[in-house]
Amino acid sequence: MSSHIMPTYARLPVTFVKGQGAWLWDQQNKRYLDALSGIAVCNLGHAHEAVHQAISEQSRILLHTSNIYGIDKQQQLADKLAVLSGLDNIFFCNSGAEANEAALKIARRYGHQKNIDTPVVLCMNSSFHGRTLATLSATGNPKVQADFEPLVEGFIHVPFNDIAAIETAIAENDNIVAVLVEPVQGEGGVNIPDDDYLPTIRALCDQHQLLMMLDEIQTGIGRCGRFFAFQRYDFKPDVMTLAKALGNGVPIGACLARGIAAEMLSAGKHGSTFGGNPLACSAALAVIDTLSNSDLIEQAEQKGQKICRLLTEKTADANNIRNIRHQGLMIGIDLAEANPTLVQSAMEIGLLINVTAEKTIRLLPPLIIDDEQIELLTDGLATLIKTQ
Ligand SMILES: *Cc1c(COP(=O)(O)O)cnc(C)c1O
Repeated sequence: MSSHIMPTYARLPVTFVKGQGAWLWDQQNKRYLDALSGIAVCNLGHAHEAVHQAISEQSRILLHTSNIYGIDKQQQLADKLAVLSGLDNIFFCNSGAEANEAALKIARRYGHQKNIDTPVVLCMNSSFHGRTLATLSATGNPKVQADFEPLVEGFIHVPFNDIAAIETAIAENDNIVAVLVEPVQGEGGVNIPDDDYLPTIRALCDQHQLLMMLDEIQTGIGRCGRFFAFQRYDFKPDVMTLAKALGNGVPIGACLARGIAAEMLSAGKHGSTFGGNPLACSAALAVIDTLSNSDLIEQAEQKGQKICRLLTEKTADANNIRNIRHQGLMIGIDLAEANPTLVQSAMEIGLLINVTAEKTIRLLPPLIIDDEQIELLTDGLATLIKTQ
């Protein structure tokens, strides 16, 4: 592979040249079943017809003007996202990290309006929020932060799924202004919190007038069996960030806000050259229309259940699995021991999977995966786990 690319990724030795649905083909025309969706990006699968139509039509009409003018597709997209989420307004950008930057700026300005000069955002250990300086400082993983000190100030970390730790942090720090949390931790190992964790954070935020900020960059857009993972519960966040699957492969990020949080990024306080441009918004509109006019999201819950059930059955005689869990089609399989060759062995038999947090197999198949592909995936994975 080209030595002119900065080696920020330890790339696997394969290059894909085309895709269709849940399938990808490499340069030798070998076919792979994609159970990762470009890390929760291509939720509708590859080469989706509605997305293709939308961006090819838009590219014929208008790609970019500027946010100093009105943008019709951006307004349409904002209206749809507001209705779907119940939040008030949206700032558009180009990636997850940028969406979280906007959220962090909302939290800081909210703090300054409360006369808190050094506002702090409470974040979780083993979280992931991005690679910019502020978002890597929010990220609860020392590996992401190492060698980039000094970190951006204004973050405190506590263990995930630990309400007492949040209560203690709030009691000990009167400058906390917001809590930032993933509804299910993705990079941290598909960590699903207890049922009362997020609702209790909501109650604590209300009690102490903190902003509840959800990073739904990985969990959103149908991945967890609802349009947004928070919709499994009976509350709304003050701020929510989206990216990854919002454009099904066309880069777009969004920071959604409600109530007082929706008033923080006023004119001159934030911006983006490309954010919310006609091309990206036309892709996102196609994604939302497709999901809204299908039962793919409902099925995501059932398909996730089925994959876990089949894997459990097919690995019943294996002794190296500790746990199999899912929320929708976000699936985690904890192995007893790290297996550094598993991803490569899977590739050899035509399966694309991922391992995160060292010992957790992470599956993020496209929502359009069908029954036959689910059988192939679970057969292949079970064989690999048993023979490794
Ligand atoms: C991927 C991800 C990000 C970062 O998104 P980028 O588009 O890579 O900047 C942030 N938060 C979560 C939860 C993610 O999964």
